[in-house]
Amino acid sequence: MFSGNATLAAMEPYAMAYGGHQFGHWAGQLGDGRAIALGETVTDNGARHMLQLKGAGPTPYSRRADGLAVLRSSVREFLCSEAMHHLGVPTTRALSLTTTGDQVMRDMFYDGHPEWETGAVVCRVAPSFIRFGTLELPMSRDDGELLQALADHTISLHFPEIADGRTGGFEAADYVAWFREVSKRTAEMIVHWQRVGFVHGVMNTDNMSIHGLTIDYGPYGWLEDYNPGWTPNTTDREYKRYRFGAQPHIGQWNCTQLANAIYPLVGEVEPLQEALETYVDVFNTDWRRMMGDKLGIAELDGERDTELIHDLLELLPKIETDMTLFFRALANVSTDDDLDLDTRVAPLLGAYYDPDTFTGDVRAETDAWLDRYIARLREEGRADANRAKVMNAVNPLFVLRNYVAQLAIDEADNGDPSLILELLDTLRTPYTEQPGRERFAEKRPEWARVRPGCSMLSCSS
Ligand code: AMP
Ligand code: MG
Repeated sequence: MFSGNATLAAMEPYAMAYGGHQFGHWAGQLGDGRAIALGETVTDNGARHMLQLKGAGPTPYSRRADGLAVLRSSVREFLCSEAMHHLGVPTTRALSLTTTGDQVMRDMFYDGHPEWETGAVVCRVAPSFIRFGTLELPMSRDDGELLQALADHTISLHFPEIADGRTGGFEAADYVAWFREVSKRTAEMIVHWQRVGFVHGVMNTDNMSIHGLTIDYGPYGWLEDYNPGWTPNTTDREYKRYRFGAQPHIGQWNCTQLANAIYPLVGEVEPLQEALETYVDVFNTDWRRMMGDKLGIAELDGERDTELIHDLLELLPKIETDMTLFFRALANVSTDDDLDLDTRVAPLLGAYYDPDTFTGDVRAETDAWLDRYIARLREEGRADANRAKVMNAVNPLFVLRNYVAQLAIDEADNGDPSLILELLDTLRTPYTEQPGRERFAEKRPEWARVRPGCSMLSCSS
């Protein structure tokens, strides 16, 4: 069943139409070209779980493509969505990963080098797979009736706090409240992405879930060295629209497209514009709190802490600094006042890709930043061990490093799935040190810098 070869009697598989803005431009109708929904299960407490196969073959929306997926991209979706869940990031989940026994032809970098790859299917799970683009499509066709039916369906089934028992007959204010909630959830999700260093890679509006869940694990990547300008997606190499540092703004841009889509249901611009401010407010408030948590500051204090945060984020890209390791190491910085500078900075050294570059201005600026940081921590007076505990609960040790995922793919391609399973197990407790698994938390090795799949990805999957 989970490889698309059988259904249960109660299942009525379907594929859904949707549209979307891709790289800033309206792309018209897209639709589930290789996703097939099997149906949903409803648990005793009312939670809905839609089961959807990705890569089980063509649908009415496949156009000229094959509707299939390869093992490489399926491993990436499976491991990353589970990793995100256990990191506390809102996301679709993965229930199963199955190889199909078929070979699938893919040109990984669209550069005239097609190869046969192992076919695979992921069964993914979410309350629904309704996207921003699902609502944009009827709006683009001027189909107000369908737009309203779809919005009412979504609200009554998935936003009970707004539906309040109703299944229709919603007013403009209800649609605005719904939009405000979606904007809020989207902002919260992207704050989490910025916290863990996740770069989605292709934030088109057809890849934005109406539930505020991370969806569509394609050419995503994880920040290794902290670089806000980085995108893993080679298709986006030129303009880097979806680079790490642009994600917050793109989230807002996408919400604006959703506002446009549901405008016919509201009939006025101002309430939607005002609701869109929710995105900015929630993002700014949550982001500041999140950065305070990453630094181990319990009570954020106005401008002073804002500057402390921003100065650190300006400092980090000055030499190659592993984001994940840096924040873990920061928890080990001591607030003792009688340490010499070398001893004080020592915990951070392991986060630099080339410790020899940690000299001159960068070293001086780091010492100066640490002066302020430590003074700030002393003011709060929390014991170092307590501070470390709180920091280590928001700064993961294990993320799905790009090269580690690729190692798991290489072994799976050779018929051995054991690394996938070990990684999955490791990523289930990403904030906890796990003796014997230190290798999954190591900085990107030199060979991975130029290896396809480790530093460069495309939408080909
Ligand atoms: P994505 O880049 O995965 O968000 O896909 C963009 C659009 O292309 C969606 O409508 C997908 O369903 C469709 N698509 C991607 N890969 C395939 C495929 N192998 N076969 C059919 N449709 C596809
Ligand atoms: Mg997509």
